[in-house]
Formats: sequence, structure tokens, C-alpha cells
Amino acid sequence: MANVLVLNAGSSSLKFAVVDPASGARAMLGIAQRLGTDEATFDIAVGAETAPTARLDEGSHRAAVAAIVEHADALDAAVRPVGVGHRVVHGGDEFSASVVIDDDVLAAVTRFSPLAPLHNPPALLGIEAVSAHWPGLPQVAVFDTAFHQTMPQHAYRYAVPREWYDDHHVRRYGFHGTSHRYVSGRAAEVLGVDPADLNVVVCHLGNGCSAAAVRGGVSVDTTMGLTPLEGLVMGTRSGDVDPGLFDYLGSVAGLSAAEVTGALNTRSGLLGLSGRSNDMRTVESAADDGDERARLALEVFAYRLAKAVSGLVVALGRLDALVFTGGIGENSPGVRARVVAALGFLGLRLDPDANAAAPRGRSIDVAAPGSPAVLVIPTDEELMIALDTARLVGGGR
Ligand code: ADP
Repeated sequence: MANVLVLNAGSSSLKFAVVDPASGARAMLGIAQRLGTDEATFDIAVGAETAPTARLDEGSHRAAVAAIVEHADALDAAVRPVGVGHRVVHGGDEFSASVVIDDDVLAAVTRFSPLAPLHNPPALLGIEAVSAHWPGLPQVAVFDTAFHQTMPQHAYRYAVPREWYDDHHVRRYGFHGTSHRYVSGRAAEVLGVDPADLNVVVCHLGNGCSAAAVRGGVSVDTTMGLTPLEGLVMGTRSGDVDPGLFDYLGSVAGLSAAEVTGALNTRSGLLGLSGRSNDMRTVESAADDGDERARLALEVFAYRLAKAVSGLVVALGRLDALVFTGGIGENSPGVRARVVAALGFLGLRLDPDANAAAPRGRSIDVAAPGSPAVLVIPTDEELMIALDTARLVGGGR
């Protein structure tokens, strides 16, 4: 299969990789950061060679894409990309799979921008910049929401006035779909079963956290909703709170809805509870050193996650495997142990030695004999984006 350039645009950063969809090998990868400021930087590794951090004089997404295209064009013909796959966060209810980008797709991504104001606009900038610098190269949009479009209405509707749904698309969408799709597929491979026969809950625990119920390869419920703020406790995001909070904080603290939303997104979660850090490593080591607030942050994180997993089992009827992925899910035996301990009533039990020794970067079952599987599976959203792109644009330039 021919190589694909994968672009993942955030509000101030742009991650990129040239990926071989067959092997997952990266011919080149890097990140542009602090875009939109005078201090934008560009880091790139081509093959085994890592270049020193460079400054991007015009620190725009467009300038970053120009630098990426220049490097990609200089690659050997055999590994030069034949298409570009973009991570697009919000595809609303319009996209249930990845698509080749055309004017209609651009219009739809623009229409859903108010639902993902930090993510959809930079993705659009990336798409436009590729068109400008590499005209004619086919581009594909891979949506975080697409995998969850199979959720039934009873899972995706909120109990709110009907016209909010009819007129303004207010419903649950779910995110991290590319990761949930990849990891649930890998779970079937690891267990050696047909995905159609496998019911799993996938916990994607990174800076953002979400869990999804995947029944027979299809997402049937997930913890994130209209936006990525709903559901689990995350690094800086609160997850579920009482919406009565808005009015209450307006009257007692004079906060506007926008201020409360901002705090729920950036000053809550592990950071808010621990008062120290959004980073799980820091929180775990502070808790180990006896910091009470850090210990409470860990307890709330794990308790809320376990509660969500057991709720998602309702959507599955039967749990064959619980899967952990993302930076925390893959690397924190402590979080896995707390969550599985709280789920003993589902028959889940860990093999403590296997859990503590789970090797980095490999997929492994860490359950005790007789328990449903408890899998640790490294996610690879870039590979999934490359696979979709290669499938949709074929091999030709
Ligand atoms: P993103 O969602 O930005 O892709 P990651 O999937 O890389 O983020 O996850 C970042 C989180 O993973 C951070 O909270 C970090 O502390 C956590 N993490 C990474 N390594 C470890 C580790 N060894 N132990 C515990 N947590 C870890």
C-alpha cells in the first residue's frame, strides 16, 4: 500500500506523520507547536534522523503545512505520500465513515464548527493549506464522531425539549471514535475471535478520556456527548456535572456561562481535584507521597470510570473484555487495578503480576483465569487514519 500523510490539527498545534498503512511504519513524523504566536516551532524526524527544533517564521497552520509538504516532497518516491488523511473532530450526524474531501464535506465540517470550536476550524485550515501547497493530492476526512453514529436513539438522545434536537442537532455524538474502532478491532485479533462475536468496553484514557460499548464491532454507547466535555473525569475536564451549576455560579460568583464552561474544560478534572497537575504521572506520584488531594483525584477518577463501565455493560448485555488504551490506560497499572477492583461484581479480576509487568507498546491480557479478558492495547489513531485514506484514495497520485 502507498504511504499516507496524516495530519492532526489542534488549535495551536499540528501533528503529522507519513505512515505506511500496511506496516504502520513512519517514514517521517513531527509536530508544529505554538501556532498563532511569534514563537511557533517545528520538530521533525525523517527516518531515524531527528532534526533540531526549528522556528516557523510565519507561525500559521498554513506555514506549518508548507514546511511539512516540503519535507514530504523530498522523501524517496517509494515512501512519498499519495494522499492526506485529516483527523476531523466533529462530523455531526452527517458522517458515519471516513470520506474523500470535496466542497460538500468542507461545508459540513464548517457547519459543525460551533460544536468543536477548538478543533474543526484548524482542521479546515490544514485542508485548505494542503490544497494550496499540494494541489490535486486527494484528501480524506476521518471523524472522531463517525464510529458512534451506530448508537441507537435511546443512547444518543437527551431528554430535553424536542426542538433543540430538531432545530439545533442537540444530541450525543461521542468522540475518540477512531481509537475505539481501532482498539476494539485489535481486541478481537488479540483474543482470536470474530469481531461480530465480541462485546467489549473500551476505555480510552489520555488527556481526554472516554469509554465506549462496542457490540459485535459496532459502537452502541459512549460516555462523551454533544461535546467532549461529557462523561468521565479527564486531565483538565470535569466530565459530568449538574447543569444547575451554571445558574448557581452565576448568582453566587457572578460567573458567565462561558466562564463556567471554560473552567470545566481547562481547570477541572485531575487538575481541579488535585490542585497540582492534569498529568496522571504527577498525580500518582504525589498520591504515593501522601498528598491527600492527589489521592482523592485518583479515587474520583477510578470510581467514576468504573461506574461508567458498568453502565455501558447495560448496552452490551454481556461483557467479554474490558480494554484499556491511551497514555493512562496503557501505562498505569495502578489505574487499571483500581477500576477492575471496583468491577469485581462483573466477574472481572486482574492477574496482579501480569498487570504490573504489562510491557510498553504491546497488547496483552492481564486478567486472572476465569475473569472476562482485561486487555491493554496500544492505540494507533494515525494508522487507522492512514488505512482509511489508502482505502479511499487507492494507490495512485
Ligand atoms: P493525548 O490524549 O493527548 O493523546 P496521551 O494518550 O498521551 O494523551 O495520554 C496522556 C496521559 O497519559 C497523561 O495523563 C499522562 O500522565 C499519562 N501517562 C503517560 N505515561 C504514564 C505512566 N507511565 N503512568 C501513568 N500515566 C501515564
